[in-house]
Amino acid sequence: MGKLLAVLGDIHANLDALETVLADCREQGVTDYLCTGDVVGYNARPHECLEIVRSLGCPIVMGNHDHYVSSLQNLDDFNPHAAAVIEWTREQLSQEEMTFLSELPFVSTRMGITLVHATMDDPESFGYVFDHLQAEAHFTHQVTPLCFHGHTHCPMIYEKQIGAVYRIDAQDFRLPVGRKYFVNVGSVGQPRDGDPRAAYVLYDPMARTIRFRRVEYDVAAAQAKVREAGLPERLAERLAVGQ
Ligand code: ZN
Repeated sequence: MGKLLAVLGDIHANLDALETVLADCREQGVTDYLCTGDVVGYNARPHECLEIVRSLGCPIVMGNHDHYVSSLQNLDDFNPHAAAVIEWTREQLSQEEMTFLSELPFVSTRMGITLVHATMDDPESFGYVFDHLQAEAHFTHQVTPLCFHGHTHCPMIYEKQIGAVYRIDAQDFRLPVGRKYFVNVGSVGQPRDGDPRAAYVLYDPMARTIRFRRVEYDVAAAQAKVREAGLPERLAERLAVGQ
């Protein structure tokens, strides 16, 4: 049987979303996992999510929240809500987990596929890619035909042909030979494209097909955990609207 890869990212400590996505992966026949980073931040189960993602034994790249939490970066320049969640998350993780996060690579290439959290155009700065110009800056650094990323929490496809870069709405497709693709897998734990369902991507390397999956999960349960942890109410509310 051939391989089927699941690409998960921006899980953001949302255990309810992660468990539902992994159940869907098993149903779909996934054989391998890849993670585009931001396992922690925003939601209330960072330790559990990190434990589960590590148990998958998959490549994981450094997300900006993974970095903020584990680098002990000074939070004076952060808005108070963001700083509160980062500080709370630090208290939930063991020293070993903090060290694990702090040592994640910014870029990983495995099986001819590159992973980066935001963009390969200075990956440590976590710039946002929302349009074809920002994607063009990324493509100058992308060596493999396929690269997966996240960070904006909005699924999207960027295609590089000779002389031009195009932005294509997320849709199932087959990778033609001779072009490069930069695929945003969306967010498992905090979608922001107006669809509250958890997002991830399936890639079949033999058939060269990409599928964008959306799965409904128990949003109310995730919200209850955020409220119970005393995290900002806005973080619970946004889960219901996918923003
Ligand atoms: Zn994120």
